[in-house]
Amino acid sequence: MAEQLADRIEIDGSQGEGGGQILRSALTLSLVTGRPFRLHRIRARRVKPGLLRQHLTAVRAATSIGNAEVVGDELGSTDLVFTPGAVTQGNYTFAVGSAGSVTLVLQTVLWPLLLTPGSSRLTFEGGTHNPMAPPFEFIAEVFLPLLRRMGAHVDAQLVRHGFYPAGGGSFVVTVEGGHPLRPLELFARGGVIRRKARALLAHLPRSIGDREIRVIRNELGLERDECRVVDVDSAGPGNALMVWIESEHSTELFCAFGERRISAEQVAARVVAEVRAHVEAGAPVGPHLADQLLMPLTLVGRGGFQSHGLTQHTLTNMEILGRFLPVRFEVQDEGEGRSRVEAFPSS
Ligand code: AMP
Repeated sequence: MAEQLADRIEIDGSQGEGGGQILRSALTLSLVTGRPFRLHRIRARRVKPGLLRQHLTAVRAATSIGNAEVVGDELGSTDLVFTPGAVTQGNYTFAVGSAGSVTLVLQTVLWPLLLTPGSSRLTFEGGTHNPMAPPFEFIAEVFLPLLRRMGAHVDAQLVRHGFYPAGGGSFVVTVEGGHPLRPLELFARGGVIRRKARALLAHLPRSIGDREIRVIRNELGLERDECRVVDVDSAGPGNALMVWIESEHSTELFCAFGERRISAEQVAARVVAEVRAHVEAGAPVGPHLADQLLMPLTLVGRGGFQSHGLTQHTLTNMEILGRFLPVRFEVQDEGEGRSRVEAFPSS
């Protein structure tokens, strides 16, 4: 116990951007390294500080796959002590019990399972299409293909869409852990080879999707056959507008959600702005993907990518990752909003 205390990493959850990412990264790396941590002032800079349902589900998920001991795992808790045990593959179900994002819960438990020999089947229940989180398609069609390129054996299938506020969505992920991971090197995007837009609607009039697609076609020049309005099954109403930009070396996906008092045209304008920034920057990795690729770089200890619009969120994450493993990140400004991010082993 005394040994574990000496080894325990103390993290201030209010540092930098101060979001849930600090918690998720700490949970993941604690499971991977076996090092306990204490996180205090959790999400101190958020309007509702402390653990929300979605974060608590991530803590519980990490606790169950890692046979961990945990203190402070309650709603609203701002102080958590996590002591990991052995990571165990198996059949697990993780339910947020609200519309909280379950793709973020996946991010927390995926890596320890990918690094442990054996197979797992993970069922996630809750929000699959939430603002401020990767939508399911981002995970399945952007993030996981890059992990497979690194040598990971992982797959994801959507069962049902879950939108805020009703939730009720689910997806299944299968993992075969223990395969060695190669470094990812993604420094060029290459030309755009395919574009696609989908307006998803659940229990909402089709005209919303038609209006969103009209803006996408007018502003981004997508052809009619590249765009579709899709009715999906869900527990409650929901609308997500997604645009995929498939380039020679990477696929990116940009997304916005319908909200009360926000017009379909405003929703579409948000996506248009993100797609334009990506296409004009010419870099393979957008701001959200950059965030999510730091973990594989850390675990492999080398590799890198070219990104655009690097955020405070990403910079904070780099600091946390370096607390658990001997990795340092170098960020080089390559002009016109582009950055080269590279991981190196630090002694
Ligand atoms: P946090 O705000 O700290 O809970 O972290 C939210 C996470 O969701 C970060 O990894 C973001 O990059 C990611 N994220 C938010 N919005 C999107 C989006 N539209 N597409 C992909 N990832 C997203």
